[in-house]
Amino acid sequence: MKVLKFGGTSMANAASISKVAEIINSDDRARFIVVSAPGKREPGDIKVTDLLYECIEARDREGVCDAALEKIIRRFDEIIKGLDIKLDLTPEFNVIRDQINGGAGRDYASSRGEFLSGIVAAKLLNARFVDAGDIIRFDMEGNFDSETTNRLVGQRLVGSDRVVIPGFYGKMPNGKVKTFSRGGSDVTGAIIARGVGAEIYENWTDVDGFMTVDPRIQEDPQIIEMLTYKELRELSYMGANVLHPESIFPVRKADIAINIRNTFNPSAPGTMIVPTKKYMSGQYTRTDRTITGIAGKTDFAAIYVEKSLMNSELGFARRLLKILERHNILLEHLPSGIDTMTVVIDAANLCPEDINAVLREINEELSPNNVEYVEGIALIAVVGHGMNRKKGTASRVFGALGDADVNIRMIDQGSSELNIIIGVENGDYKKAIRAIYAEFNK
Ligand code: ADP
Ligand code: ASP
Ligand code: MG
Repeated sequence: MKVLKFGGTSMANAASISKVAEIINSDDRARFIVVSAPGKREPGDIKVTDLLYECIEARDREGVCDAALEKIIRRFDEIIKGLDIKLDLTPEFNVIRDQINGGAGRDYASSRGEFLSGIVAAKLLNARFVDAGDIIRFDMEGNFDSETTNRLVGQRLVGSDRVVIPGFYGKMPNGKVKTFSRGGSDVTGAIIARGVGAEIYENWTDVDGFMTVDPRIQEDPQIIEMLTYKELRELSYMGANVLHPESIFPVRKADIAINIRNTFNPSAPGTMIVPTKKYMSGQYTRTDRTITGIAGKTDFAAIYVEKSLMNSELGFARRLLKILERHNILLEHLPSGIDTMTVVIDAANLCPEDINAVLREINEELSPNNVEYVEGIALIAVVGHGMNRKKGTASRVFGALGDADVNIRMIDQGSSELNIIIGVENGDYKKAIRAIYAEFNK
């Protein structure tokens, strides 16, 4: 029995939802269906989730969300008409309007896209609708509560006929709705797969599989036939947003493989994401590849600290990291030399006051010879288990970047030899990715 998750593009309009129904109805093992909110119908369109965030902004600005909500009502009307089903969402929209106008928060509002999408899909498929709020649990701090959830999923779903579950959200013990971060319906699908003990978790999207590199950067990249949980984690965390970086944790607990598939080309086999140990021990056919994929993100910042004899100063790294912790700053990477240490942080959510305070405290508490702060850094990860069996991979990466005239600002190689992380300037980001791709696809 399978869990199938359909993303925003698959749920975007009546035509795509009809394809979703065909896929489900032609597969006897398609038992548990997780759906996203309707996404973009064409480039430039607005996802229902974003329209719901706009409802909150309209409410805060004008006192009510009615006009903003109208756009969402129209989108669902169009879907229901196109699918030719008998369904009236007026009562649901009345509740949503009252809740938002009465002060409900962003998590509640944004979760309603998946909620409504789930009701539509259940009606179309003649399946039971189970609200994610009844089975996906968060604690009072808003952290996902995996074990309570797993128990509830087992109790409510195991042994059921076909069920539709909305993705992206759950509830806290006080009944408040809480969502995962953006793209979180992937996580819901993985949680359901673990909870019901699925044979496979199929994640249906709008591309033929996980590609060696983001298709929006490199035209027509290769599809990766198979990758491991570990490779997926590295690539998705570093920006390959075809799958949410946290979707790996639930399935990993139960050794369930993920199959990325294309709703718009269902005959393509897609990408299999398999348990690392089984792959490494030869239980699957391994392709002889040096690197598996390349991913990256822009807008990081680096704090570069230099101090002679840093290596013999007990607790230096701990004191440096303590300063960041005090300011609630998450660390992304920590490349170091004998007398230098670089702290790479995500600059998107930082305010200048925090950075100034951090730099001042580093000077006061660590007495370094030099501290520099650099913004506008892009990180690129080159990932693959094959790298530790092939000599010279790093030099090929650096050679390709040198030939493309890309200035390397930072290098960090994980001890597992599963990845090489390179920091370049934001402006060189795409050029660098294309250069590395070209080097390994000659
Ligand atoms: P869904 O709405 O189905 O969840 P997403 O938009 O979240 O789909 O993810 C699919 C998109 O991820 C693709 O359309 C593609 O543009 C993008 N993407 C980024 N990196 C990759 C990659 N390495 N392989 C495939 N797609 C990628
Ligand atoms: N609808 C949510 C988002 O746009 C969750 C998802 O699609 O996975 O982020
Ligand atoms: Mg997604």
